[in-house]
Amino acid sequence: MGGCRVCGNSRGNRHHLFREKYLGLGDGFDYIECGGCGSLSIVDIPAQMGRYYPETYYSYTSRPYRRLAGLLKGWRDGHYLGRPGIAGGLLSRFFPPPPYIEWLKNLELPVGATILDVGSGSGALVANLQDAGFPATGIDPYLRAPLTFANGARVLKQSLEETGGSFDCVMLHHCLEHMPAPREALDHVRRVLKPGGRVLVRIPVMGTHAWRTYGENWFQLDAPRHFVIFTEEGLAGLAREAGFTLLKTVYDSTASQFWASEQYAGGIPLADDRSYAVHPERSRFSPAQIETYEREAALLNARSDGDQAAFYLAGEPLA
Ligand SMILES: [Zn+2]
Repeated sequence: MGGCRVCGNSRGNRHHLFREKYLGLGDGFDYIECGGCGSLSIVDIPAQMGRYYPETYYSYTSRPYRRLAGLLKGWRDGHYLGRPGIAGGLLSRFFPPPPYIEWLKNLELPVGATILDVGSGSGALVANLQDAGFPATGIDPYLRAPLTFANGARVLKQSLEETGGSFDCVMLHHCLEHMPAPREALDHVRRVLKPGGRVLVRIPVMGTHAWRTYGENWFQLDAPRHFVIFTEEGLAGLAREAGFTLLKTVYDSTASQFWASEQYAGGIPLADDRSYAVHPERSRFSPAQIETYEREAALLNARSDGDQAAFYLAGEPLA
């Protein structure tokens, strides 16, 4: 594999060596920075990826589902989504909207719209979407076993390629960057999307402030688990080629671009005991410092320079 996994360009590419830093293994991996679209691609997919997905990898741990909490969340979310109700109104005074409310609003999905969450992990989001009124299915090939929640939401142990059916919406939350051939993945998204359907792709964004500041220590490189790290231009071009229309881009980076990258620069793996992700109180960051980072992240997001974004796509090309 010599070319860019996003746009196929093989000219003027720069080489980088990135190391495994989440676990602190230090294994090195060759990446290219595309001379065309600017995206990063891993050159060779490691043969033994299992070494890099330990049991503790964050997507596969979750708390048990509780039916009553699910009902209450559903009422609260109904309020935020414009379905008035006394209980929902009351709950909304105590519980702010979770992140998926903004996604659902931007997707403009009617209640009852079906959602496929690709790379769902153990399905916490899928259960919440179901409670909010959107029949949801999660898929994840690395799941230990399939499961069905008490509210009917399902998580299947399978890949996107193996998935059939027809959905009003497909979501890929920090998932496309783990796929070796993103164009083929988007073709499969089209295949399982109903006509007029919507797609939400959330990914790290290459070339932004955190990359320019931290370089090889930018924590969202996440070598070798991230096979591709798109620039905004790279994702937009790929979506267009696959027949989608880009409706909206919302930068949604957080304080983690600072604290996690600072930790890498100081030799502290994300999964380390000294990491803010593991023991916030034992880390080098005070609550005030984290708040400062959150404010900086919000400023970067407003300038489209945060280190991750949400891309909203429509399933049809521009007329
Ligand atoms: Zn490219």
